[in-house]
Amino acid sequence: MTPPPSPPILLTPGPLTTRSETRQAMLRDWGSRDPAFIALTAELRRRLLAIAAGEATHVAVPLQGSGTFIVEAAIATLVGPGDKLLVLVNGAYGDRMVTIARRMGRAVDVLRWPEDQAVDPASIGERLAADPAITHVALVHCETTTGILNPLAEVASVVAGAGRAFLLDAMSSFGALPIDLAATPVTAVLASSNKCLEGVPGLGFALVEAAALAAAAGRSPSLSFDLHAQWRGFETDGQWRFTPPVQVVAALVEALKLLEAEGGPAARLARYQDNFATLWSGMRRLGFQLFLPEGLQAPIIATFHLPPGLAFRPFYDALAERGFLIYPGKLTQAETFRIGCIGALDRRDFDRLLAAIAAVLAPA
Ligand SMILES: *Cc1c(COP(=O)(O)O)cnc(C)c1O
Repeated sequence: MTPPPSPPILLTPGPLTTRSETRQAMLRDWGSRDPAFIALTAELRRRLLAIAAGEATHVAVPLQGSGTFIVEAAIATLVGPGDKLLVLVNGAYGDRMVTIARRMGRAVDVLRWPEDQAVDPASIGERLAADPAITHVALVHCETTTGILNPLAEVASVVAGAGRAFLLDAMSSFGALPIDLAATPVTAVLASSNKCLEGVPGLGFALVEAAALAAAAGRSPSLSFDLHAQWRGFETDGQWRFTPPVQVVAALVEALKLLEAEGGPAARLARYQDNFATLWSGMRRLGFQLFLPEGLQAPIIATFHLPPGLAFRPFYDALAERGFLIYPGKLTQAETFRIGCIGALDRRDFDRLLAAIAAVLAPA
């Protein structure tokens, strides 16, 4: 057996494998109220907005915490006590938005599809026509539960056509899959530092329509999860309201420079597609089956059936010993495991992974 590579290769959808430049950007201290860090925050907000071409209409509001924190803050700030949120659910992250809205005491309705089916724009249009009380619609772009890609442009156009606000959980797609706010009507895009942007974990951000955010003053029932107040803080003195994760911000700005140098989201998507294609053709040769129909699969994370006789834990441990960390499944109805295609990895890493899997499967 070859010695494990160091550090481990994370085939997880975040935290994920980062470039050494990104990690090295964390090796200094920053005063959070110092002009240098205020300038870094301004650069972060500018670069995030530019990725989605939102400069003319949207503002970028970063928030301390994991991705769920920004989803919670966006629902708290944008969906008011008299509003009603329709959540489109075909996986665990859609369900999480339902839970958040209920805990917040907001009126919620749910449209549900099986985990191996994309949401269907036509039935969304019907539900919006039937229920004028619905003010907001929420969609998960890439449902990381399975890796399924939902039809963003079609859903956005149905929701905008019905005159409702649209919240997009783009956590596992932002920075790779195309999101163009100049062409696609989205009220708020939500994502985090540690997925396709290839930063380290510790902050989420919302790109919110300035008009919608300006109208949301004082609406959040939470002090910390208030995107309007967070935004006013940045606009007033350029500072974060509460202690910022300064090293995470520095790493993310470095990661955004690396994204630009790579050629932007289109080039990153091409690399992830190559990773996925390498993984899937190798896995097929080894006898594994994808959980999703190939046409619905985003090149972000792949869900495979666990073959009979293979238990996840020993499989995980044997691969971890060889330096690769894979991900358990998150499905109720099938025994699966997942392999992320995102992070600072290319096809050579997947070739090495496939060799490790073949070695683990080989009879002793
Ligand atoms: C990762 C992810 C989140 C947020 O998860 P955290 O563990 O809170 O970072 C939300 N939605 C989707 C689709 C995700 O992939």
